[in-house]
Amino acid sequence: MTQIIDGKAYAAKLRAAIAAEVATLAFKPGLAVVLVGDDPASKVYVANKARQTVEVGMRSFEHRLPAETTQEALLALVRQLNADPAVHGILVQLPLPKHLNAEAVIAAISPEKDVDGLTVMNAGRLASGAEGLVPCTPLGCLLLLQDNIPDMTGLHAVVVGRSNLVGKPVAQLLLQQNCTVTMAHSKTRDLPGLCRTADILVAAVGRPEMVKGDWIKPGAVVIDVGINRVPAGEGKSRLVGDVAFAEAASVAGKITPVPGGVGPMTIACLLRNTLTAAKRLHAGR
Ligand code: NDP
Repeated sequence: MTQIIDGKAYAAKLRAAIAAEVATLAFKPGLAVVLVGDDPASKVYVANKARQTVEVGMRSFEHRLPAETTQEALLALVRQLNADPAVHGILVQLPLPKHLNAEAVIAAISPEKDVDGLTVMNAGRLASGAEGLVPCTPLGCLLLLQDNIPDMTGLHAVVVGRSNLVGKPVAQLLLQQNCTVTMAHSKTRDLPGLCRTADILVAAVGRPEMVKGDWIKPGAVVIDVGINRVPAGEGKSRLVGDVAFAEAASVAGKITPVPGGVGPMTIACLLRNTLTAAKRLHAGR
């Protein structure tokens, strides 16, 4: 019988553990979230982040800037947050309006407060095995895998997708777990055949239900990062992952659903990163 990995339940447990630890601190960790413009999806994400930040006992600083904000003004805000001792984590909600240079904005975030793990410094630390801050969704994938496979040594992990946000950091984290890691992407030959060799299959592609049931090795653990909105008739839509869930679930040993798998882990890991950053900053390292 396939086991469904319940990311929602795991995320709730993680948030409870974070809240319990925050309660023991002599100070309140603070997370600043910067939203530029009024993209409706981003507004919902930012509101959720702020609510969950407060729920675990941290301080939430929301900075909503108009869409026409200049690069200079945004950089000035990031520098101000870098210098603010009440702020331990800084997140600039992406995507930014087109006239802004997201790379330069991310580069301006202090690596010690970069709770999204997107600065080149933190990517380099992850690649070289140094202590840093790891991007939230990949960290969520790792925690779910660790919970389900206590020892990943020697397992073959295939990561489909090589973005800086998901695929590359997931591959680095699995390498640290002593997996043999193969990274696949749009130019990979015989992707179905490659996937069939995976003990751990992570799909982070952004293509609805691309990974089919017959791509999966019987008993494999499947982590579906994809979030894709597809039409569901009568003008409605529904969310699906990058994996064809029903057929994959009949072959996999364990699998994350969409929604309710990796998705809920992202904000929980953002809070965990904020706690990590706060403790390190307070300890002066
Ligand atoms: P990107 O678009 O940045 O990267 C997609 C990757 O998939 C690329 O490396 C691309 O290859 C690869 N790819 C595209 N088409 C194919 C194909 N036909 N065969 C094999 N590989 C392919 O996406 P992200 O990494 O940002 O996100 C991936 C998915 O994860 C999306 O559905 C996104 O919504 C979701 N997501 C979910 C999050 C959450 O759970 N909270 C957070 C972040 C993302 P190439 O490099 O060759 O172009």
